[in-house]
Amino acid sequence: MEVIKISNLKKSFDDNIVLKDINLNVSKSEVVVIMGPSGSGKSTLLRCITFLEEPDDGVVRLGEIELEAGLQHNKQRKTAVRELRQNTGFVFQQFNLFPHKTALENVMEGPIIIKKMDRHKAKEKAKELLTKVGLADRMEHYPAQLSGGQQQRVAIARALSMEPMVMLYDEPTSALDPELVREVLLVMKELAKEGMTMVVVTHEKEFAKDVADRVIFMDDGLIVEEGSSAKMFNNPEQERTRQFLHDVS
Ligand code: ADP
Ligand code: MG
Repeated sequence: MEVIKISNLKKSFDDNIVLKDINLNVSKSEVVVIMGPSGSGKSTLLRCITFLEEPDDGVVRLGEIELEAGLQHNKQRKTAVRELRQNTGFVFQQFNLFPHKTALENVMEGPIIIKKMDRHKAKEKAKELLTKVGLADRMEHYPAQLSGGQQQRVAIARALSMEPMVMLYDEPTSALDPELVREVLLVMKELAKEGMTMVVVTHEKEFAKDVADRVIFMDDGLIVEEGSSAKMFNNPEQERTRQFLHDVS
């Protein structure tokens, strides 16, 4: 069953064509890792999937929610965009936590404000999620009192609190000191094992080898090649793929 279906997605910034014609389907519980050089359009793709960036052309479907680019911005469309975002957990390179809220409050916020969840219930759920990401003893800490790896795990718990259909990660470990990368990747791996559908932009080759069901290589606004990690790392068809995946550490 397909959770995400992206058809003929295109995006330009002025005369810079950033996404040329992206077609991508992601099945339930599938882990798709996207790799590619800086500037190839990876972040723009994730942002267009959630309409944080309006695509010029194409269709995005998430479950039953379908959004076509370029349509009139009416109330119905606004609702569809909101539903799309509420059902997508987005984890960014910069953790984007609320600095004046504790870890617990950061995770409770979405369910209370957006889902109108009862405060007590939201708190119990947030505790459960923070425990799951290994932060049972850090719930009352503020972001500034947490390491980067801990902050990113709070961000993951916060995204999960909305019970998304899919988790999108945009270089979630790129801003972290090397010794903190592993704890974040381990949490992501655990979620993958539990069947979470995920699209992960990362340069972490070991994670891709270990966790990805499919690796996509993007360059210059196009999906150049995709396949199993074994194929993509050991036996790619395209020279560009070979050169890039050979070069990443
Ligand atoms: P990646 O994530 O693969 O490094 P990006 O999607 O961030 O690539 O960027 C792809 C291209 O789009 C780059 O040339 C970048 O400068 C351009 N770009 C991205 N966002 C914007 C924006 N908001 N306005 C103008 N150009 C942008
Ligand atoms: Mg990027």
